[in-house]
Amino acid sequence: MEIKVERAKTLKEKPDQSNLGFGKYFTDHMFVYDWDSEKGWHDARIVPYAPIQMDPATMVLHYAQETFEGLKAYRDPEGNVQLFRPEMNAKRMRNSNKRLCMAELPEEEFVEAVETLVKYEQDWIPTAPETSLYIRPFMFATEPGVGVHPANKYKFVIILTPVGNYYPEGVAPVKIWIEDEFVRAVKGGTGFTKCGGNYAGSLAAQVKAEEHGYTQVLWLDGQERKYVEEVGSMNIMFLINDTVVTAPLEGSVLPGVTRDSMLTILRDWGYKVEERHLSVDELMEAGRTGALKEAWGTGTAAVISPVGELCYKGEEVLINDFKTGELTQKLYDTLTGIQWGKLPDKFNWIHKVK
Ligand SMILES: *Cc1c(COP(=O)(O)O)cnc(C)c1O
Repeated sequence: MEIKVERAKTLKEKPDQSNLGFGKYFTDHMFVYDWDSEKGWHDARIVPYAPIQMDPATMVLHYAQETFEGLKAYRDPEGNVQLFRPEMNAKRMRNSNKRLCMAELPEEEFVEAVETLVKYEQDWIPTAPETSLYIRPFMFATEPGVGVHPANKYKFVIILTPVGNYYPEGVAPVKIWIEDEFVRAVKGGTGFTKCGGNYAGSLAAQVKAEEHGYTQVLWLDGQERKYVEEVGSMNIMFLINDTVVTAPLEGSVLPGVTRDSMLTILRDWGYKVEERHLSVDELMEAGRTGALKEAWGTGTAAVISPVGELCYKGEEVLINDFKTGELTQKLYDTLTGIQWGKLPDKFNWIHKVK
């Protein structure tokens, strides 16, 4: 892939690394790549970060053909730059795009684009502990026209934002609202894709949970509202007695890179891991009896989010006295240790940016 570069005339001042927050600052440049049905992918370029002008009839604004990804670049203790399993994001984006009848970007080009932009913007990768550069690739329909059909034009864009901890308070337990009215996804729908529409549809439940004093929503399956699927925008795992249980990937659950990595680490440690349907009744009963030892959400942004309390139909159960569990903490330390290059890369997950 030939990537043209147009350098920004003035560069921004870098933000204070001790107060980055999440997704507040954007770097000087972005990657842009266009597709149309005649030329295919063309004009790969790095250009100054700037607004994108669109016709009011641009199809994404009406029919929501939009998908995205999320991954991070990390600095190891020597200051070298590394990515974590970017080929998984490349593959997932292709699967998302296929489901939404969008152009598919070859996986090697996705990785090359990410790597080239990160390298170009490497001065933006923070060095303070617990920080990284969040990478947001996304694609959307750019053809103007009213009338529902798959668009004939798309833009693939990558923007970068230096980030600190997703939660300002760091790794700390959150209160979770189990939603029994709204659903996020159904089998046969778009639950396994990372598309903006899934998020728009999830907001009503999120607002409801917050109104009741909860941080995030635990989603039940769309057919029966009986089986546990995900928490907010993370996958979720439960330690029940000595077994780790998580929902299987059957179309409605997002196949998280963090989920896959943690399951691999857990199996390597000799834990019993079950990818199976877990009913909310079984979960609440395990909470009542104390069989539910720990629960945590997993995702690139927050890495791990311990669950300290569940509320279902007015009943509340506490998990591990609302403290971060031992296994939860160990998983966080191990995965972030690999990502920040402090622990050996036993599973060959690290992609060095050269
Ligand atoms: C992105 C996302 C996840 C986590 O995926 P990672 O690859 O681990 O970041 C989980 N659930 C939903 C709904 C998501 O959008």
